[in-house]
Amino acid sequence: MTLKPHEQDLLNRVETGIGVGGTWATSSSGATFTVEDPATGLVIKTIADATVDDAIRALDSAVAAQQEWAETPSRLRSDILRRAFDLLMDRKEEFALLIALEMGKPIAEARGEVVYGGEFLRWYSEEAVRVSGDYRRNPEGSGNITVSHLPVGPCYFITPWNFPLAMATRKIAPALAAGCTTIIKPAELTPLTTIYLVQLLEEAGLPPGVVNVVPTSNPSAQSSALLSDPRLRKLSFTGSTAVGVKLLEAAAQNVLRTSMELGGNAPFLVFEDADIDRAVDGVMLAKFRNIGQACTAANRILVHDSVADEFVRRVSERVAALKIGRGADEGYDIGALVDKKAIAKTEGLVADAVDTGAEIVTGGQAIVGPGNFFQPTVIDKIGPEARMVNEEIFGPVLAITRFSSEDEAVHIANNTEYGLVSYVYTENVGRSQRMIEKLQTGMMGLNTGLVSNAAAPFGGIKHSGIGREGGFEGIREFLSTKYTLTPR
Ligand code: ADP
Repeated sequence: MTLKPHEQDLLNRVETGIGVGGTWATSSSGATFTVEDPATGLVIKTIADATVDDAIRALDSAVAAQQEWAETPSRLRSDILRRAFDLLMDRKEEFALLIALEMGKPIAEARGEVVYGGEFLRWYSEEAVRVSGDYRRNPEGSGNITVSHLPVGPCYFITPWNFPLAMATRKIAPALAAGCTTIIKPAELTPLTTIYLVQLLEEAGLPPGVVNVVPTSNPSAQSSALLSDPRLRKLSFTGSTAVGVKLLEAAAQNVLRTSMELGGNAPFLVFEDADIDRAVDGVMLAKFRNIGQACTAANRILVHDSVADEFVRRVSERVAALKIGRGADEGYDIGALVDKKAIAKTEGLVADAVDTGAEIVTGGQAIVGPGNFFQPTVIDKIGPEARMVNEEIFGPVLAITRFSSEDEAVHIANNTEYGLVSYVYTENVGRSQRMIEKLQTGMMGLNTGLVSNAAAPFGGIKHSGIGREGGFEGIREFLSTKYTLTPR
C-alpha cells in the first residue's frame, strides 16, 4: 500500500517542524513522531516532537509579539483574517485531502469541514473591527465611567483530532481578531492540518510570533509547563471532559481565563408528531457525520413508541446502504475510525448493550484490517443500564430507546451529566417551546440534525463545558473588561 502521487506531493508541502516566531524548527531533543492514515495504518509523515523547552520558546515568542499585535489596527488584523479565508477557499481541495488523510473522514465531509472552518476566519475578520466599549455617567453625577474591552493576552490552545481544521480556526480566528497572540498544540493524531494552516496564515501576512504551533507526543508535560507560567493568560481547550477537568485544575493555580468545549451525550428526540422523513435525514447526519466521532453526535436516539417501528426500519435501510472505505478516496460515506483504541471501545460498548438486552438491527462488527473500520450499526431497545447511554459512543453506532410520553422523553434526555446539544423533531409549536425550556443543553437543533455555524455561539452547560465559540460571543472570550473612572 502506498500513497498516491498527488497525496505525497501535498504531504511534502507540509512543514515537518515546530513553528515558533515565524520559523520552522526541529525539536530541541531531536525527537520526532509519526502520523498515520487510519484507513491503511500507513505512516504518512514524520514530524518534530516539541519538548517543554520548545513550548516555552513558543510562549516567549507569543509574549514578545503580544503588545505589537494588540496595537495593530483592527482593520489590518481583519484584512489578514480575510486573506486567510480567501487562501483557504482557494486551497479547499488540498486541506480537505489533508484532513481525510490524517483523520480518516470521507473527503466530501472534509470539504464541508474546510468550508465550516473557513467561516470562522471570515466571521472574525468581520468582527475584528466591531469591538466596542461604552461610556456612562455615574449615578452621583460626579464622574464618567468608560468601559473598554482589551485583549486578554497570550493564549494556549489544545485542539482535538476529530475536526483538525475547524477546531483550530474556531479558536485562532477570534483570538487574532481580539488582538491576542497564541500557541497551539494540535492533537498528536492529526497535527498536519494545523501545521499547514499556520503556513497559510503566514502567507496571509500574519506577523511572526502571533501564532506558534508546537505538536507533541507528550501533551501533559507541555500543558503543565505552559499553564503554570505566569505570562500565559488564557487556555482554550476542546476535548474530553476527563482531560478538561485536569486542565481546569491546573489553570486554576494560575487563575487563567478558560474556554472549555468538552464531551457530549446528545439526545435526539423523535416525537409522535414528527415529520419522519426529516427525522430520518436528520439522524443520519447527526449520528454518522464524522463517522460518529463528534461531541455533537446524536448519542441517544429517543423515539416515541407509536413511530418507533417505522423509524427503526427506515433508518436501518439507510444505514445498511452506507458505503465504507478510505476517506481520502472519493465516494464513501463511512471512513475509518481514528485509531485501534476507538475500535476496541466501540466493540466493548456494543457487546455491553447486547448483554443488557438490546437488539442489533444492522452492523455490529469491526471490519478486519488493514485500517480501523467498524460497520455502521443500528441497535434498538437500549435500556438505561447500557454503558452507551451514559458515555459518548464516538463511533458509527446508532442506539435507539423508545419512550411513551413527553415527560418520560425529557427525563431520559436530561438524565446525564452532559449538556452540549439536543435534537428535537416535532411539528407541534407548543411542544417545541417546551423543549427549548426543558432540555438542559447549551444548543438545540429543532427539526435539524446539524447546529454548527460560525455565526452562532457553540458551547455546552453542565459537564459539557464553559464558554462559547463562534458568534458575537466567541470574541468576548478573548477580551477582558476594563473600567476607568474620570472625575467630572
Ligand atoms: P479524545 O478522547 O477526543 O482524544 P482528549 O481529551 O484525549 O480527547 O484529547 C484532546 C486534546 O487534548 C488532544 O490535543 C490531546 O493531545 C490533548 N490532551 C490529552 N491529554 C492531555 C493532558 N493530560 N494535558 C493536556 N492535553 C492533553
